[in-house]
Amino acid sequence: MLDTLENTIDRLRKEIESDSSQITDSKSLEAFRIKFMGEKSFLINEQKNLKNISQDERPKYGKILNELKIFITSKFEEKKSLIESEELEKKLKENAKDSTLPGLPFEIGSEHPLSIVTKDIIEIFNGMGFSVVEGSEVETDFYNFTALNTPEDHPARDEQDTFYTNVGPQILLRSHTSTVQIRAMEKMKPPLRVLAHGRVYRNEEINARKMPFFHQLEILAVEKNLNFGNMKWVLNEFIKKFFGKEIKTRFRPDFFPFTEPSAELDAQCPFCDGAGCLTCGNRGWLELLGCGMVDPNVLKSVGINPDEYIGFAAGLGLERFTMLKYRIPDIRYFFTGDLRFLKQF
Ligand SMILES: [Zn+2]
Repeated sequence: MLDTLENTIDRLRKEIESDSSQITDSKSLEAFRIKFMGEKSFLINEQKNLKNISQDERPKYGKILNELKIFITSKFEEKKSLIESEELEKKLKENAKDSTLPGLPFEIGSEHPLSIVTKDIIEIFNGMGFSVVEGSEVETDFYNFTALNTPEDHPARDEQDTFYTNVGPQILLRSHTSTVQIRAMEKMKPPLRVLAHGRVYRNEEINARKMPFFHQLEILAVEKNLNFGNMKWVLNEFIKKFFGKEIKTRFRPDFFPFTEPSAELDAQCPFCDGAGCLTCGNRGWLELLGCGMVDPNVLKSVGINPDEYIGFAAGLGLERFTMLKYRIPDIRYFFTGDLRFLKQF
């Protein structure tokens, strides 16, 4: 009996081998399954028949049948995965838009560090009543210079520093976001507190600290009875909130064409508390922003009576603040699109 079974199985194995080599699609795969693993197959019949075999021989029979089952199953699974991947590939090629196909995995991006810091700063100034106004990156000479009290012979107007377009002699890429403030003052009646931010362009050489474009954020307040003390309070409050702690500041006299008096705000280095470190270049102080009382000529140029209203303005570089917040050593990291850098935020 056992010999007969072994002979039969030998023949069957050869048949399985030959049949499985001819499986080319899911139809022939199914035919193979029915023939060798189905209800009427030799394997299933013999397994059902096991109970009629004498107790002595049953374990041997069982073992042989089990080996056969493993052989058939492995042939079947091998062909099945092959056909499935072939059919998937075919389907992908035939119809790239088939919505029933499983989706391809995609990576989720992260917010750019400049955007994070811009949002943080806007939120702080929102809390003090400043609201965002938008403006164009392409501007006229009038809004970029003339209305901002920058005389014809001022070096900033030089083509070496400003990008002029070939659209017309007066059309340029804004060199600061103050242009937005001029337009806001034209449209809105004081009292007003506005914030403008965005990309600005200057003809700079590219290095670790400078790019031909960067991002600026400016605030402007025009109200009755404003004074330098009000501006100091607003900026000190901003510095404290941005760095998350009480920080000593100082206002050094400076010059800008559109503010008078003008000042540069320094903050005691929040990383070494003034002792000197790499971030502050061992000076203990960080130059953070420029500010001042709006020049009466600027107010006049947009039709605001300087005898009635007083303004203050401040402007900062967003790259500078972002580099400080995250201790980023090189401005070029912001614009290379390197995922190793961007994924850290
Ligand atoms: Zn320091």
